[in-house]
Amino acid sequence: MQFPDGTEALDNVSLALKPGEFVSIVGPSGCGKSTLLKIASGLVNHTAGTVDVDRNHLGYTFQDATLLPWRKVMPNVELLMELRGFPAAERRRIAKEQIDLVGLTGFENHYPKRLSGGMKMRASLARSLALNPSVFMFDEPFGALDEITRERLNDELIALFMRQGFTGLFITHSIPEAVYLSSRVVVMSRRPGRILKVYDVPFDYPRT
Ligand code: ADP
Ligand code: ADP
Repeated sequence: MQFPDGTEALDNVSLALKPGEFVSIVGPSGCGKSTLLKIASGLVNHTAGTVDVDRNHLGYTFQDATLLPWRKVMPNVELLMELRGFPAAERRRIAKEQIDLVGLTGFENHYPKRLSGGMKMRASLARSLALNPSVFMFDEPFGALDEITRERLNDELIALFMRQGFTGLFITHSIPEAVYLSSRVVVMSRRPGRILKVYDVPFDYPRT
């Protein structure tokens, strides 16, 4: 993968996700993790190779929760459903469910600026979950949060994953976080990003 300015970001990276698994990608800053996710989600065009992702059933979240500041939580969570043309009543019903699921009940009418960083991430998760994605990609979603909030959200993410049954792809700088969350850890090298090694992570309870 080459950017227009000639930067060689990814070299010969091949990754296939099995339905229902949770895979993390770790590697140094600039190794191409975000580029890989952006290519998979269609936000960046790739210059070589092939991508096979069902984008109609894809959810993603990035480090900045990207909520619209002029919308309250409820209409922010409704946003992707709006773009897909869901009827208003259905949007509200689903948004309410997702807001409950991520623990934001009571904050429906708050503007993003009144939410903590962790709450913004919850709203961002709810917004994507509303489309009931079969594949969910996370680009360091909790990287900007304090450690306690981050650990809490990681636990909630595991619970969510087990309950919703999506396939997960998670980017992080943190090896402990990757090992904690996933059934497979992919380690990437410095730029241009290559896959150095893939580890299977054994669990003491079923997580696929
Ligand atoms: P990571 O997520 O692992 O930190 P990125 O995927 O963001 O890495 O970036 C991989 C490499 O590609 C870096 O060297 C970065 O500077 C470069 N890069 C990212 N986006 C662009 C772009 N739009 N144009 C040129 N180079 C880019
Ligand atoms: P626009 O091109 O009007 O700015 P967007 O970039 O918001 O539209 O969305 C483009 C497409 O990607 C839409 O079909 C939208 O549903 C989808 N999309 C945007 N963000 C997400 C997300 N976080 N999760 C899943 N799908 C998304």
